[in-house]
Amino acid sequence: MPEAVRGLTDNPGHAPSWYAASARDRRVRPMLQGETEADVCVIGAGFSGISAALELAERGYSVVVLEAERIGFGASGRNGGQIVNGYSRDLQTIAARYGKEKATRLGEMSLEGAAIIRARVEKYAIDCDLVDGGFFAAFTDKQMRAMEAHKADWERHGHPGLEMVSAQEVGRYAKTGRYAGGMIDRLGGHIHPLNLVLGEAGAVERLGGQIFERSRVIRLEEGTPYRVVTEKGAVRARYVLVCGNAYLPPQLPEISGRMMPVSSQVLTTEPLEAGLAQALLPANYCVEDANYILDYYRRTADNRILYGGGIGYGGRDPKDITAVIRPNMLKTFPELAGVRIDYAWSGNFALTLTRIPHIGQLRPNLYFSHGDSGHGVTTTHLLGKILGEAVAGHAERYDVWSSLPNLPFPGGLRFRVPLTVLGAWWYEMRDRLGW
Ligand SMILES: Cc1cc2nc3c(=O)[nH]c(=O)nc-3n(C[C@H](O)[C@H](O)[C@H](O)COP(=O)(O)OP(=O)(O)OC[C@H]3O[C@@H](n4cnc5c(N)ncnc54)[C@H](O)[C@@H]3O)c2cc1C
Repeated sequence: MPEAVRGLTDNPGHAPSWYAASARDRRVRPMLQGETEADVCVIGAGFSGISAALELAERGYSVVVLEAERIGFGASGRNGGQIVNGYSRDLQTIAARYGKEKATRLGEMSLEGAAIIRARVEKYAIDCDLVDGGFFAAFTDKQMRAMEAHKADWERHGHPGLEMVSAQEVGRYAKTGRYAGGMIDRLGGHIHPLNLVLGEAGAVERLGGQIFERSRVIRLEEGTPYRVVTEKGAVRARYVLVCGNAYLPPQLPEISGRMMPVSSQVLTTEPLEAGLAQALLPANYCVEDANYILDYYRRTADNRILYGGGIGYGGRDPKDITAVIRPNMLKTFPELAGVRIDYAWSGNFALTLTRIPHIGQLRPNLYFSHGDSGHGVTTTHLLGKILGEAVAGHAERYDVWSSLPNLPFPGGLRFRVPLTVLGAWWYEMRDRLGW
């Protein structure tokens, strides 16, 4: 068996990922030292925080972003890079739970996250290997029927890019015999996520925003303005946006009990001979399957296969990531049996009880955004922008999102993990048995 290498990179402060190794911007931003002022202080330089900062910087606000580690250190710099439209709950479920009006409003915004990404990539000339097209793979006829219903629902909300794929046509998107069919989304796609967030961060800076790395927020002092305190400095700001997501320590109990860190694991192969990479994923679409605990994979710009999956409730990682993910990859592509694994890493996303992301206000002018529940590349961009709009006094879309219930996990911080594992076990068994 080829030896798995946990990739070491010369880009310290990041997870040992292929992304960190291939990041185009390696500048280390300064640590905050001393006192400074801004209209808005953003905590966390992932997609959520940087999306909000960029929206605000474009609107002329002075913005300071405080990042505990490096820009993109969290899920935003480690994920599968899949641009997935919509939310982790389908619109029918949203309509049944929150009413048709809210489902319609969320439906109207469901393609916007990807549009924001594409617009920023173009406007700021961000080199992040953007490729169009995503494929959702079904293992069973039941999953196919669910996708058909999903398609009809999204089309009612104006999605023009969906198409069902029969079992015979699967090979156009993934050369594997595992699937009963699937659905393509031409408005989906994939990116190098760390290069995307670094490119957006660069745009914030060019517009006058400041970003400090290795500047963990340790305390928030109430007042007008707020005082956001790090170990070596502080920012006085009228508005504060908390965008630490799954990496936020449980300092703010109003948030911590309402989301749970969940780990997902990713590996990349060595660069493949171009013909092999193309044969495995001919359309160069990204792929995710329809299981509850799903596999997601794609080609990279340098012809590696980047393969993700696995789950660790509470943010717990398996001891050997490659040992968990590689067998899944080989089930899909047995051709890769002799191929070296160059990088293996994990990251945490934030799960909410409803699987819907949440934004809201904890106190006047103190906002938060979290909980994209595994599908956050697009929604973080949307919700970051909406937070920026709310600060600027345009709260109409913010009001729709913040009115969705943000429920605490049953069992509190102590028992939320075992209770969620129990719930997930049922869905996993259902997938295994094809129910
Ligand atoms: C392995 C993995 C694969 C995924 N794949 C996909 C995918 O293919 N498609 C998709 O749509 N979604 C995917 N997701 C989900 C997606 O990556 C996340 O939803 C999204 O990146 C969350 O962005 P964020 O900015 O809210 O949080 P993060 O990117 O986690 O950023 C939070 C930042 O806040 C900082 N921070 C925390 N506390 C403090 C503090 N006290 N002071 C200062 N800074 C602080 C952290 O260091 C971190 O950099 C994946 C997630 C993971 C983990």
